[in-house]
Amino acid sequence: MSHFVFLAVALGVPLLSAMGRRPTAAPPPPNVVIIYADDLGYGDLGCYGSPTIRTPALDRMAAEGMRFTDFYSAGEVCTPSRAALLTGRYPVRSGMAGGRRVLFPESAGGLPPEEVTFAEALRERGYVTAHIGKWHLGVHAGSRPNDQGFELSVGLPYSNDMDARPGLPRGAAASPTPAPDGWNVPLLRNGVVEEQPVDQTTLTDRYTREALRVIDGAAGRPFLIYLAHTFPHVPLFASTSFRGRSRAGIYGDTVEELDDSVGRILRHLREKGLAENTLVIFSSDNGPWLTQGAQGGSAGPLRDGKGSTWEGGMRVPAIAWWPGRVPPTVCSAVASTLDVFPTLLAIARVPVPGGLELDGRDASPLLFQTGTRSDTPFLFFRGQELMAVRLNEFKLHFQTQAGYGGSPRERHDPPLLFHLGQDPGERRNVAAEHPERVQELRARAARMQAEVVAVPSRLR
Ligand code: MG
Repeated sequence: MSHFVFLAVALGVPLLSAMGRRPTAAPPPPNVVIIYADDLGYGDLGCYGSPTIRTPALDRMAAEGMRFTDFYSAGEVCTPSRAALLTGRYPVRSGMAGGRRVLFPESAGGLPPEEVTFAEALRERGYVTAHIGKWHLGVHAGSRPNDQGFELSVGLPYSNDMDARPGLPRGAAASPTPAPDGWNVPLLRNGVVEEQPVDQTTLTDRYTREALRVIDGAAGRPFLIYLAHTFPHVPLFASTSFRGRSRAGIYGDTVEELDDSVGRILRHLREKGLAENTLVIFSSDNGPWLTQGAQGGSAGPLRDGKGSTWEGGMRVPAIAWWPGRVPPTVCSAVASTLDVFPTLLAIARVPVPGGLELDGRDASPLLFQTGTRSDTPFLFFRGQELMAVRLNEFKLHFQTQAGYGGSPRERHDPPLLFHLGQDPGERRNVAAEHPERVQELRARAARMQAEVVAVPSRLR
């Protein structure tokens, strides 16, 4: 014991204050709730201009937090989109793109175990980690939620229209009155079947109750909840209290029930005094499935929908909410689901795991309005193919194709150029007026594509 310490102890002076640098305890890392809708379009929420679907909870969340106008999912369909969100990497890097576009119940592939998810990173930091809802990143060992960082997993292993009953007519998923026993989709709890076929009318409420239970059970530990809703993906089922309520039909019913779920979760966080230490992010995995007719959503003013690299396929609603930290405002900077992983690392004060190549960037300067970010191109992949690139207001399409419906792929040389500020609907090709932009975007895309190393597709 040094003389100094001996003296301090002998005089009864608390040691740290005697040394003049009492460390203020680091604030606990914030809780994180990510709510991910399935096939919800850019135009399907009140706060994004839906004239018919009522979403008071999400509208309030947007009014209290940050609503993004130019936020992208980094995948045009379910599986790639989820891989990008969870890893912060373009899905071509993990093999979660290409092939059959998404995983099917009989697929051999899945998210490789060596991929690092945000759940793995935050769990190391002491977070309670929970996956609730749809997974769709693989059903085999190594790829399952419990193998990818989630200590709790409750939900469906894939889409709710998969595992259809034999003999179910093709297109039955898009019926406004789908057969309740038409699909044999299981609800799993930590890999064990809890109900099969699951009663799909109960899913949104069950997921919500699971989320509230995780919040209550965390008991002071920080928590990460990844709540990936089953709806509004077809077949559409709403509970009896929501069924038949919306002007927009059954599609609107499921979105309004989902909105109610968001409201219950935010209310619970407020009541528990956790709102000021919880970041909630709401978004969607891809655009609306337009070929489902009235059972598909709306991309609002944007072109095309799910499956396409036109704006309607990948630009999605996104709202960030953290009372006292994220100011109530609208953010028009370009951001994407790739940014979620690095942003969570930043706010939880976790260093980027060594050797990990992330494509996303920390969005906390945008969220907390402490600065801007440098301009980086965003790449639009359809499967493994680079289709388009966006930099600031300009988007350059090398190839275009409707999301679904069998239309042929068109290759464009020279590429098509759109000014998304003046023409968010991508109607007026301005390539001839801006040859220097075409050249710049083409060069930046080529440089980036060389860095994003694709591996063979595992979506077989
Ligand atoms: Mg989807």
